[in-house]
Amino acid sequence: MDTPVCSACKTREAFFHRQYSGETLCKKCFTQSIEAKARATMTRYHMLSFDDHLAVAVSGGKDSLSLLHILAKLKRFRPKTTLTAVTVDEGIKGYRDEALEIAVANCKKLEIPHHIVSFKELYGFTLDEIIFKARSKGETELTACAYCGVLRRKAINIGARQVKANKVATAHTLDDEVQTILMNIFHGDIMRLAKEKPVTSEVHPLLVQKIKPFCEIPEKESALYAYVKKISFQDTPCPYASEALRNDIRGMINYMEAKHAGTKFTVFKAMERLRPALEETAKKESFKTCVECGEPSALDLCKTCEMLRQVR
Ligand code: SF4
Ligand code: ZN
Ligand code: ZN
Repeated sequence: MDTPVCSACKTREAFFHRQYSGETLCKKCFTQSIEAKARATMTRYHMLSFDDHLAVAVSGGKDSLSLLHILAKLKRFRPKTTLTAVTVDEGIKGYRDEALEIAVANCKKLEIPHHIVSFKELYGFTLDEIIFKARSKGETELTACAYCGVLRRKAINIGARQVKANKVATAHTLDDEVQTILMNIFHGDIMRLAKEKPVTSEVHPLLVQKIKPFCEIPEKESALYAYVKKISFQDTPCPYASEALRNDIRGMINYMEAKHAGTKFTVFKAMERLRPALEETAKKESFKTCVECGEPSALDLCKTCEMLRQVR
C-alpha cells in the first residue's frame, strides 16, 4: 500500500489523520497548523495587546509546555511582549516535584523567567496535608481535585500579581473546555457556565484576566505537538486524578467524539452562542472581596477560606 502524502504540502509523508476535518498531515504541516490555530484563536478573541506581560501557567504537563513553547516562538516577533512562567506547587508528594523539575528545565532552555507559588506558603498546608486533615475529620464529600481546583485558581491569580503580569495564559484545551461546560451543567452551576470562557471578564481589580490560546485545540493534538517537537514533559498522572468527576465526563465525550467526529467543537460552539444570554443573568451577580483574605470572591467568605476553615 502507498504511504499517504500530506494533504497540505503534497510532498512529505503524512503521519496524522485529522478525523474531524479530513486532513492528512506530515509532521511539519501538523506543527505549523497547531501554531497557526493558537494564533488564530488569540486573534479571534482579541487575547493579546502589543505590550502584554503574560504569566503562563505551567504545570509541567504536555499542554502547558506546548503553550509555553508556542508563546516563546510568538514572542520573537513581538518584542514588547513579556513572558513569565508561573508554576503552582500544590504539595503532592512524588508527583509535583518531578513536574517542577521539568518546568524549570524548559524555562531555562527557552530563557523564560520562572516563578513558583506553593500552597504551603500561601495557605499553610500542602494539598496532601489538606486531604489528610479533611479525611481524618470525615469530610469525604469533596474530592482532592475539588480542593485543588479552588486553591490552585487562587494561587495562579496571586502568582500572576506577584510577577506583575497583566494577563494569565492557561493551556486549557478544547477537551478541558468541553469537560468544564458539561461539569458545570452536571453541577447545575449556571453562573460558572457563563464565567468560564476563552477570555475572562475583568470583574474585580485583583483578578488578573485569563486567556486560553488552546481552547480550540483538541488535547490529543496538543500532546502530539509536544511529542513531535520533542518537548520534555511529565506524563505520570497525579495520584488523585482518578477521583475526579472530570474523568467520567472525559470518557463520555471521547466516546462521543470517536463515534461522531466533531462533537467537541459542536459543544464548544454551542456554548459560545449560548453565553451572551447566560451573561445577562450572571451580570446580576457581582464580585465581592473576601472578608478573611481580601481576595476576590462570589460570597462574603471565599471558597478557599471556607475550605481552609474546615481543615483547620
Ligand atoms: Fe489537582 Fe486533581 Fe489535577 Fe491532581 S488531578 S493536580 S489533585 S486537580
Ligand atoms: Zn505537509
Ligand atoms: Zn478568602
